[in-house]
Amino acid sequence: MPKIDPKLIGFDIDGVVADTVEAFLRLGRERYGLGRFTPSQITDFEVARCLPVAPEVIDAIFAELLENPIDADLKPMSGAVAALTALAQRAPLTFITARPLRQPIEDWLRLILGREVFAPARLVAMGDHDRKSDYLSALGLRYFVDDRAETCLGLRRQGFSPIVFSQPWNQGRHDLPTVASWPEIEALWS
Ligand SMILES: [Mg+2]
Repeated sequence: MPKIDPKLIGFDIDGVVADTVEAFLRLGRERYGLGRFTPSQITDFEVARCLPVAPEVIDAIFAELLENPIDADLKPMSGAVAALTALAQRAPLTFITARPLRQPIEDWLRLILGREVFAPARLVAMGDHDRKSDYLSALGLRYFVDDRAETCLGLRRQGFSPIVFSQPWNQGRHDLPTVASWPEIEALWS
């Protein structure tokens, strides 16, 4: 893949910047008595389709991660903070999430990245997996890293260049370029 212009890339948050599955499984064990599932068992973006857990429990855990990611101790993916900190020297960071609540994830991003790195960043939280292209257009972006295969396939249909962050729930569901780690993302432009 040719090197990309760092001014043209944006990022999804959950499953890309944030290790949402680690937090989901940990909260499930600690607060809801779930068994010891592993991330490799989450083979569908809709968790209720792949884990033997009541949908209400899944919804309750996701609500906690949505409303209070800091208290839930949501962690960044390995290498994400270093790569984003380096990228921020070259271009404003852009995050586009389908989370419908902006403030909690804004506070979380500021905490993990630090005030100075986060201050110039752009954050869109709009509650819809399928409208990310509107914001990519408005912000003048071309590349987008996301872990949801359907989102990435939709972006390609709309003329963007999505990159799938490899996760158990997107395996075999697309034929797009992939990255498996933040060092690999950094190598896209450096
Ligand atoms: Mg995601």
